[in-house]
Amino acid sequence: MPKIPSIHVLDELTASRIAAGEVIERPASVVKELIENSLDAGATDIRIETQAGGRRLIRVSDNGHGIPPEQVEAAFQRHATSKIQAVADLERVSTLGFRGEALTSIAAVCHVTLLTCAAGAETGLKVRLDNGRVVSREAVGVPRGTVVTAENLFHAVPARLKFLRTDTTEAGRIHDIVTRYALAYPDRRILLVRDGRTAFQSPGTGAIEDTLVAVFGLDVAREMITVRLDAPVGAPIRARQPAWPVSVAGYVSPPHVHRATRRQITLFVNGRWVQDTSLAYAVVQAYHTLLPKGRFPLAVVLVTLPPEAVDVNVHPSKTEIRFRDSRPVFRAVERSVRRAVVGGAPVAPMGTPERSHWDVRRPPASGDPLKVGPPDTGAEQTTYLDGEAAGLPVLRVVGQVAQTYIVAEGPDGLYLIDQHAAHERVLYERLMSRRGDPLLQRLLTPEAVALQPTEMAAVESHTAAFTALGFELESFGPDTALVRALPDGLGTADVPGLVAAVIDTALEGGDFLEEAFEERLVRAVCKQATIKAGQTLSIEEMRALVRQLEETQSPRTCPHGRPTMVVLGGERLAHEFGRA
Ligand code: ADP
Ligand code: MG
Repeated sequence: MPKIPSIHVLDELTASRIAAGEVIERPASVVKELIENSLDAGATDIRIETQAGGRRLIRVSDNGHGIPPEQVEAAFQRHATSKIQAVADLERVSTLGFRGEALTSIAAVCHVTLLTCAAGAETGLKVRLDNGRVVSREAVGVPRGTVVTAENLFHAVPARLKFLRTDTTEAGRIHDIVTRYALAYPDRRILLVRDGRTAFQSPGTGAIEDTLVAVFGLDVAREMITVRLDAPVGAPIRARQPAWPVSVAGYVSPPHVHRATRRQITLFVNGRWVQDTSLAYAVVQAYHTLLPKGRFPLAVVLVTLPPEAVDVNVHPSKTEIRFRDSRPVFRAVERSVRRAVVGGAPVAPMGTPERSHWDVRRPPASGDPLKVGPPDTGAEQTTYLDGEAAGLPVLRVVGQVAQTYIVAEGPDGLYLIDQHAAHERVLYERLMSRRGDPLLQRLLTPEAVALQPTEMAAVESHTAAFTALGFELESFGPDTALVRALPDGLGTADVPGLVAAVIDTALEGGDFLEEAFEERLVRAVCKQATIKAGQTLSIEEMRALVRQLEETQSPRTCPHGRPTMVVLGGERLAHEFGRA
C-alpha cells in the first residue's frame, strides 16, 4: 500500500502563484472537482448522485485512498493540498488537483458532509461543515474511501443561485461532465444516479461502447472512428533534452456526421478536461474540405504528453491550459485525426472543387450584382447577372451534372444551378413566411429520438420557438423525445438530423433577439433538410425546384449568402468558340 501523501497548506509564494478566481460556478463545477479528487485518490469506483440538478444534493463516493483522520480539517483549508509541495512543482503537475481550493470553495457555498476512511486506518471519520466551519466530528465505521455530500448549493449566495438554469439544464451539464470523464477513464467504474435513478454507468473494464453511446447517442456512436497516435514529435523543452512524446487517442465522427457547433468536441489533456480553442481548431482542421462550411465534427480527443510540457495553472477551474510549445501538439492532433478520418471514412467526399472556368469571382453580398467569369481574365469578359431583386427569367431544364448542378437554358445563356443552395433558398423563404403559423406534416407514427440531457433541456426551454417553426416535440422519458410533426416540405427521411439541427442551434443559445433566433433556427433546418449535392434528381424534380426557385424573392443566393447559380452568357459562349 503506497503511503497516502499528507495534506499541508502551501507556502505563501506558491499560493500566490496559483491562478486566482472563482472555482465553483454551478453544480457541475462541484461534480467536476469531486470527481477529480476521487480520480487523484486512485479510486476505481466512483459514484455520483444528484438531486434537483445538483442544487439540493451532490454526493460523490469513491474507493480511493481516503484521508487520514488527523488531516481532514486541513483538507478544507485554502491552499491546502497533498499534491504539490513548492513553486517548482507547478511546472510539472501530474495530478488533476493541485490548487488546494476545491473543498474550501465548496464548503463556503453549501452544507458539506465528508465521510472518509483512509487506507490502513482503524476507523473512519464523519465531519459536517457549515459556512466552511466544522460543526461536528465523529468516528464511524465505513469502508475505505471517501464520500463528499454537498447540499443546498448556494443557499446563502442568492446572486449565484439566480445564475443557475433549470434543474434539467444543470443535470444535463453534470451528465456531460460525468460521461466524458468516463470516456477518458474507461478503467474506472463510474456511476451517475440522478434523482434516484441510474442515468449512466460505465463498466470500468476498459470497454467504452456503452459510454460512447451515452456521450453521442446510439446512431452516432456506431459510426465513430478510433484515433490513435504515439509520436515523439515534441521539440525538446530544454536544450540537450530529447524530444518529448505526444500521444493522441480518441473517437471522432466520420465526415458525413456533423453538427452546427463545436460543442461536441471534447478535449482531454493529461486526463484533464480542457477547453482549448486552438486544440479544437486542430480537430476541425483535420476535416478540411471534408465537411460543409460551418459544420463541425463530433470528437473526444485525449492528448497525453509529459506534465512539464503543459502549464495547467492558467485558470481557476483548471479547464484552460497552456502548452509550452503548442505547434507539435496541434500537428499531432490534426495529423492523427486526419489519418483516422480519411482512412476510416466510409464514403469518399465529392470531388474536390477545382477552380474552373465557371468560377464565381466575388461573394455576392445581397443586392450586389453577381459576377461570373473565368478566373484569370479581365473584367471585360465578365458576365453580370441582374441584382438580386430581379426575378429569374423562365428557365428550361436541360439536365444535371455531377449530381450537384442543374443545367438550364435561359434567354441570356446557360445556367448552372446548385441544387442544394437552390433548395435551401426555397425552404428558407417558405419557413420564414409561415413562422408562427406553420404548415405541418404530421408523422403517421411519432418518431422517437434519443437525446442527451442538455439537449432535452433545450427542447424544454425552447418549445415555443420550435412550435412556431412547425416542430412538435415532446419529452418521452428522460432521454427520448417524440417527434409528432415537422414543418411541411422538409421530408421525413432524416428526422433525428432535423431535430439535432434545431437543438444544436438552440444550444448555441446566447441572448439573441427572438427574430434573429428564429431565423437561425430556420437556416439550420434548411441546411439539414435540403436536397444534397450528390443526389440524382429526375427532370421533373429539377423542374419543380427551378419553378419554386423562380417564385422566391431572392432566387440568386442561398440563405447563407452563397450564389444559387452561375450563368455563362451567350456572348461569352460565342467568344469561347471563336464566333465573336
Ligand atoms: P486539491 O485537489 O487541489 O489538492 P482539494 O481542495 O480538492 O484540493 O482537496 C484537498 C485535499 O484533500 C487533496 O489534496 C487531498 O489530499 C484530499 N482529498 C480531497 N478529496 C479526496 C478524496 N476523494 N480522496 C482522498 N483524498 C481527498
Ligand atoms: Mg481537488
